[in-house]
Amino acid sequence: MKKLLKLIPLIRHYRKYVFLNVLCNSISILFSLVSITLLIPFLQLLFNQVSLQTVRPAWSFTAGSVSAWYQYYFSQLIVKEGKFHALLIISILVVCMFFLKNLSRYLALYLVAPMRNYVIRDLRNNLYNKVLILPLAYFTEQRKGDIISRISHDVLEVEWSVMNSLMILFRDPLAIMLFLAVLFLVNPLLTLITLVLLPLTGLLINYIGKMLNRYSRKGQDKLGMLVSMVEESIHGIKIIKAFNAFSYMRGGFTRLNGEYTRLMNKVFRRRDLSNPLTEFLAIMVMVALIWYGGRMVLQEGRGMHADVFLFYLAVFSQLIPPAKNLITAYYYIEKGLASLGRIEEVMEAEEVIVECDGAVSVKDLKECISYKDVGFSYGSKAVLEGINLDIRKGEVVALVGPSGAGKSSLVDLLPRFYDIRSGSLTIDGREIRELRIDPLRAMFGIVSQETMLFNDTIFNNIVFGKMHVQPDDVTKAAHTAYAHEFIMRTPSGYQTVIGDRGIRLSGGERQRLSLARALLRDPQVYILDEATSALDNESENLIQEALKKVLPGRTAIIIAHRISTIRLADTIVVLKDGRIVEKGSFENLSKGDTSFVKLFHQQLQ
Ligand code: ADP
Repeated sequence: MKKLLKLIPLIRHYRKYVFLNVLCNSISILFSLVSITLLIPFLQLLFNQVSLQTVRPAWSFTAGSVSAWYQYYFSQLIVKEGKFHALLIISILVVCMFFLKNLSRYLALYLVAPMRNYVIRDLRNNLYNKVLILPLAYFTEQRKGDIISRISHDVLEVEWSVMNSLMILFRDPLAIMLFLAVLFLVNPLLTLITLVLLPLTGLLINYIGKMLNRYSRKGQDKLGMLVSMVEESIHGIKIIKAFNAFSYMRGGFTRLNGEYTRLMNKVFRRRDLSNPLTEFLAIMVMVALIWYGGRMVLQEGRGMHADVFLFYLAVFSQLIPPAKNLITAYYYIEKGLASLGRIEEVMEAEEVIVECDGAVSVKDLKECISYKDVGFSYGSKAVLEGINLDIRKGEVVALVGPSGAGKSSLVDLLPRFYDIRSGSLTIDGREIRELRIDPLRAMFGIVSQETMLFNDTIFNNIVFGKMHVQPDDVTKAAHTAYAHEFIMRTPSGYQTVIGDRGIRLSGGERQRLSLARALLRDPQVYILDEATSALDNESENLIQEALKKVLPGRTAIIIAHRISTIRLADTIVVLKDGRIVEKGSFENLSKGDTSFVKLFHQQLQ
């Protein structure tokens, strides 16, 4: 239950709603007490037990005095208006009290509704913001779907289970205490018996609650795996179809889904125990009361009249729904806390890439980017070792090497997608760890192989997050990237929506769009990850033309696979198994028995 305290900072902003809710709830409880109290004269009338109180009693702050005054006014009513009229008036009063009770109960819920939704909204926003900040290394393939599941299902689960139950926590303990106080005033001995039975039932209820939490946690984890699998399958639907892997995928999904369902059966069965269990326990207490209290009434002279006892039972019966609610709420909270735990795990995940205190804002590259003896690993897997490389302003460097050599990893270190393990990586002599992250990233214009396009218009995909952009600049960037013509051929030009990840565009078109996006930013350094997949001739030529236009005089690092691109570079760096094995100009490396020649001998012929 300690986890519940973590919601307090979120709720604190909206405490006025909580205050109003508690206020209305208190009013509602008072009305409900008054309406039951009104029942006493009702009962007395029916049982013909009215002893008329004609003398005005003295006033004091005791239960006896309140009761005497009450009797007095009721007697006055009977004397003046007659029994039937008194009954009618009491009936009308009871209806009014119940109306007011329910009105204030509704008002309490009405007033607290925004708080519920705002807390969930904040939770979702915080989670999304955190997801944007978390380091790339956090998002392994298997985690992506799970994170989606946490933002969608777990937040919803918190809304359903925890927030619903919080409403009950704001209301019912108050009601229980008030009713118990009244019971104490009416008959302390009977009330003590009730209280003795409470801890015993509490233990049983708690045991079931803990089990519920455990199963619920397992269930939510399984749901995360399910969503991951759906996400992965949709992403790779083409491959699944191409390899006829339906039954393989379906088998995995059905098994996981079955496990999830079995877990949820356990969760539901335990959660649904709360209502019948509480009712049964409450009835047992009630029967004990009827047995013991009934004897008190039957053995006259032991201080309890039948009407008082009935009133006692009426108040006690009012205690059962809030007690039942409270236990149900407890079960729902235990269930929801499992989800809150999963949300917390993301919120508390380490932000490995952090800005150091006193980080400086550098916007321009003046002289040189410098890797000195850089080592880098993904976890324990060493990927780069002893990298020494200078990239001077205005220089175009091509990184070449077999797949898996570490080319992408090498450039990913620059915008600090990952941090180096050893050595130093500097921009104009300053460690990049000492730079502010946003301006550092803004220095680089990245054109990635992965299509980093969103399901939005072409215009918005080129602008993507850049503020105050003139449409002319967008068109200019598209022209330079040789994208303008194909854009104009699409049905709505720049306003055409390109589908998820740009699915409605060809590979070459996507690449040129990414290039236009980078060009619009006019970054200090271009990082281009050339497409490995074969593009159609026209696309390839157009991209070459674009690069020829863009690159001269700019600083760029290109992960290159085509000789035509490599020729555009001033320096070629050959990587193998995480090390630089050769470095030099195209002329130097393309002669003799170099690794470069071995790599590209087919294209060089
Ligand atoms: P290249 O770009 O030359 O193909 P990469 O830099 O992508 O090479 O990969 C270098 C090595 O690091 C490969 O062995 C690859 O499997 C591994 N690798 C790449 N990304 C990750 C990652 N996120 N987690 C763990 N290993 C990775």
